[in-house]
Amino acid sequence: MDFDLTSIQQQLLEAARKVIAREIAPSANEMDRRGPLGRSDAQDLLRRLAPLGYVGGILPESAGGMGLDFLTYGLLLEELKRVWASAGGICSITTSAARTLSELGTDDQKKRFIPRLLSGESIGCVGITEPEAGSDVQGIRMTATRKGGRYILNGTKTWITNGSIADVCIVLARVVDGKKLLGPTRIIVDRNESPFEARNIPKMGLRACPLSELSFRDVTVPEGNLLGDVGDGLKTALRGLDLARANAAVGSVGVAQGALDIALSYAGERRQFGKPIGSYQLVQELLADMATLTSAARWMAYHALRCLDLGRPASKAAAMAKSFATEAAVKVTSDALQVHGAYGLAEEYRVERYYRDARCYTIPDGTTQIQKLVIGRELLGLKAFR
Ligand SMILES: Cc1cc2nc3c(=O)[nH]c(=O)nc-3n(C[C@H](O)[C@H](O)[C@H](O)COP(=O)(O)OP(=O)(O)OC[C@H]3O[C@@H](n4cnc5c(N)ncnc54)[C@H](O)[C@@H]3O)c2cc1C
Repeated sequence: MDFDLTSIQQQLLEAARKVIAREIAPSANEMDRRGPLGRSDAQDLLRRLAPLGYVGGILPESAGGMGLDFLTYGLLLEELKRVWASAGGICSITTSAARTLSELGTDDQKKRFIPRLLSGESIGCVGITEPEAGSDVQGIRMTATRKGGRYILNGTKTWITNGSIADVCIVLARVVDGKKLLGPTRIIVDRNESPFEARNIPKMGLRACPLSELSFRDVTVPEGNLLGDVGDGLKTALRGLDLARANAAVGSVGVAQGALDIALSYAGERRQFGKPIGSYQLVQELLADMATLTSAARWMAYHALRCLDLGRPASKAAAMAKSFATEAAVKVTSDALQVHGAYGLAEEYRVERYYRDARCYTIPDGTTQIQKLVIGRELLGLKAFR
């Protein structure tokens, strides 16, 4: 496969780099320290980044997107996460909500929700995980009871990216129709017409990106908000996982590269025993291993995205890329911190933020262990779980 960047990719990246350096990078550390972004700060971020393709860039032009291929969107994500991982999370999950709507939505649903998401006016989230259903998505308990032309939602979603600030939430719930309990189904919740409670979960990394617990108690939504068919929600949710995994991989490459850049510059400046620490072979070994891991993770992530673009089977490549790149980013960012000595622990040196952020990515879209089971299944044709 050929990974030479096209001139369009180069132009998009150049434009993104300029805006990120001018408008995002200077305040990233300070804003991250303040914790989860509120709605208006997140909207401001989305509005700045939307014209560059970060919000819904992968949607077809007919749906209001830019028709970017997955690799190009991944390159943009890598660039943003190199500077501020939380910002990348807010954009990519809003994009994921818009893409799900563009794939499964009726014309009316597309008209109602997609333009607002793509402009940054609305923020999107996708609610699947529940307190008792993490890796085992089939264990979800949230119900959507059909009654008088409406669905009544009851249940809890947790660890939902953008949850507290989202206007448009796509949830997975079991439809109850009379006495029948039907399969998991996707339902759009417009928070303005169907309010629900949300609280942010204080957490180790990705501090500016809200991860929230959402409580639905008799929340009613119109029947017209059913997304796709009753009972096909799990299938459609799982179908999007290869892309989510490839994006998690390429985002982790961005985080690793950002930490490596900071460590390289520090190793050239910091002097001990009369010489820059970068001249010592053991420090060079750390940096060489970091660069090697980052490079290997990058090619795996690009390969998975390219398979998706070509319509080839991508489950194995995406699972390999996700598990390798997210674990590599943990190691690279930890070693970047080590290169800084005690200063690596100080917030003002930024590198500790990269370490905390990288640590988060081995968990969503299937933990590292789940990715290994997916790889095993692809190799053997035998399932370790249902
Ligand atoms: C940064 C971040 C963003 C997220 N964003 C979203 C979001 O937007 N929407 C959403 O719905 N969810 C989101 N999540 C939730 C995420 O999808 C779940 O955390 C993930 O699926 C794992 O579930 P769990 O945390 O309940 O862990 P568990 O499933 O309880 O796993 C605990 C441990 O057991 C291991 N384990 C579980 N089953 C097996 C098995 N069969 N074999 C071997 N080991 C196993 C796991 O690997 C893990 O080490 C997010 C999580 C994070 C950290």
